Amino acid sequence: MNNKNPIFFKEQIIKLLSSKGDDFNGLLNAGFNAKLLSIGNTVHFRGLIEFSNICSKNCFYCGIRSGNKKLTRYELNEQEIIDAAIFAYNNRFGSIAFQGGERTGKEYAKKIEKIIKRIKQLSNNNLGITLSLGEQSSETYKRWYESGAHRYLLRIETSNKELFSKIHPNDKNHIFEKRLECLYKIKELGYQTGTGVMIGLPYQTLDNLADDILFMTNFKVDMVGMGPFIEHADTPFYQPETDILPLKERFDLTLKMTAIMRILMPDINLVASTAMQAIDPLGREKALLSGANIMMPNITPSKYRDNYKLYENKPGRFENPDDSLSLLSNSITKVNHKIGWEEWGDSKHYKKNICENLV
Ligand code: SAH
Ligand code: SF4
Repeated sequence: MNNKNPIFFKEQIIKLLSSKGDDFNGLLNAGFNAKLLSIGNTVHFRGLIEFSNICSKNCFYCGIRSGNKKLTRYELNEQEIIDAAIFAYNNRFGSIAFQGGERTGKEYAKKIEKIIKRIKQLSNNNLGITLSLGEQSSETYKRWYESGAHRYLLRIETSNKELFSKIHPNDKNHIFEKRLECLYKIKELGYQTGTGVMIGLPYQTLDNLADDILFMTNFKVDMVGMGPFIEHADTPFYQPETDILPLKERFDLTLKMTAIMRILMPDINLVASTAMQAIDPLGREKALLSGANIMMPNITPSKYRDNYKLYENKPGRFENPDDSLSLLSNSITKVNHKIGWEEWGDSKHYKKNICENLV
């Protein structure tokens, strides 16, 4: 590929995103081979703790948006979070990830800080911690980093400002520039920084997705978490005003995006997202075979899972953590991958950049 000429390069990405048949399979294989060459066939786990479904935002696509009054809101207490972290530790996970609705404020920041410190202490610093708790102040990001969290995932959702304004309310809580600024703050503080987009959104074009790929490569992201958009019945996007791609096409497009990202950035961490599994029971395994290397098994206490429904058909909502884990381990082995038990599985891309900056 010629990436000296940006327009030519973007056209090539669009062509790849349009591929079908043998070209489609060839692209996925190329993504898989790029992964094997750069980081091998090990999958690293981030035990996902869905901390709370209380959210101050109202994103049009999301089932836990503040405008959804049908939902019972919850927040895990400190002990429930510690128990989930201990479950991860005892089951030889290298890392956990906290995800939740967006909230801010001193009390909230302090609570998270205390929990991060406690988990680091209880696990003798052996559990790595990823956060995905939305937009925060520099001070909060700093405190959480200094407490021991070392990765942060904040999806830009789309790198196109106009599209961003169509998928979010037009108010001070949903500002594209602010989200972008947060990503730079996170990176500057030293977190391994992850971003990503939803694929198959209403109003989204292949041109937008090609721009998303270019955005992530130019940003020099360390981790990518992307997934198909899936409708949720209690959101404005359940029946959007515009045509959207059938689920199967959103799924295939996500595999193509995964393969292209892996080819362009061979040493990043790339998540096989749970939303893939919501469309196809083997969705995450197919993502591994297209270049993904990270999975986020859900270890949220089962009684809360039904209330953390970002989209319809979210898998594993009624299983307990032990069941989910054994099912997942078996299916990973079946596609000839191994699990990096007890390893953090940090982004090689991040490590390389740190070393380059030291010399
Ligand atoms: N509140 C935080 C983290 C929780 S939401 C944040 O927004 O950053 C995590 C991710 O879920 C979002 O970034 C979004 O990309 C994804 N998501 C939300 N609704 C979705 C839907 N309907 N289909 C697919 N992904 C969705
Ligand atoms: Fe809240 Fe995140 Fe859902 Fe937006 S995507 S409504 S910020 S949980």
